[in-house]
Amino acid sequence: MDKCHCGAEPSVFLNYSNAHLCQQHFIHMFDKRFRATVRNNQMIKKNDRVAIGLSGGKDSMVLLHSLAELKKDLPFELVAITIDEGIKGYREKTIKVAKAECVKLGVEHFVFSYEKEAGKTMDEIVSDNSEDIPCSHCGVMRRYLLNRSAREVNATKMATGHNLDDMAQTIMMNIMRNEPARLARLNEPMLKDAKFVQRIRPLMVTPEREVAIYAIMKDIELERMECPYARFAFRGHIRKMINEAEEKYPGTKFKIVNSLLEMEDALRAKYSKGAVLSACEKCGEPSSSNLCMYCKTVKFVNRKLV
Ligand SMILES: [Zn+2]
Ligand SMILES: [Zn+2]
Repeated sequence: MDKCHCGAEPSVFLNYSNAHLCQQHFIHMFDKRFRATVRNNQMIKKNDRVAIGLSGGKDSMVLLHSLAELKKDLPFELVAITIDEGIKGYREKTIKVAKAECVKLGVEHFVFSYEKEAGKTMDEIVSDNSEDIPCSHCGVMRRYLLNRSAREVNATKMATGHNLDDMAQTIMMNIMRNEPARLARLNEPMLKDAKFVQRIRPLMVTPEREVAIYAIMKDIELERMECPYARFAFRGHIRKMINEAEEKYPGTKFKIVNSLLEMEDALRAKYSKGAVLSACEKCGEPSSSNLCMYCKTVKFVNRKLV
């Protein structure tokens, strides 16, 4: 049986680097990679005010912990934002977990709701519509509200818990749907605007499995329940496909994400040509058309039904 390099019994095997690690050295590796990602990509600067999008699930809860740890060595401010979609039996639980952890870590926590901001809860939106409301609608609303609320709490950066698996899946989905322009703006909007709070993803090269292992080892409270409306048919297919490839060819997920990082500048140079940004005529937020995606979505979900 292989041992950790320190000689202790291993708890984790990482097949992409052929490493057996004991709990202590797994945590050490995890923290080191986290800090290197933040540093090498200049994600957080001294005196930044970082707002974390805190859903209460494992990724954002681990991110909250790692950022709170980092804060001990780098002077920056950390606040948390939870978007309450208004989903009974699900969101209350995650908000409770998120709130308790923020109190414990001394992080100020803000909650913004669909009900207050968009006029309807997700439960109402779903029950008012005869057809299936796709997750993409909810995603548009959540991303928009996260950005706007990050600005409202004076954040200079917005951190989200996207991990390596999320990134690899999104990249492959965009390739398989032939949407290279979306790939070009995956990491940042095509055009800069003072109203866009810069997004950072400090877990973007951390495999999902390792986030889960870390959460258990560090005894981090989290809510395991998933959104009851989640319909991820295509993403689910891609996830399975990538996991199978990873199993057979360890390191595949890193390679997918690194491919995008390598191609990003070229993609952005190509697709930023002719892109224009104006203000949404309804809400004033930056938009590439008269009405922004969010206002279009809110209009759609609030439309009069006959
Ligand atoms: Zn060890
Ligand atoms: Zn708008």
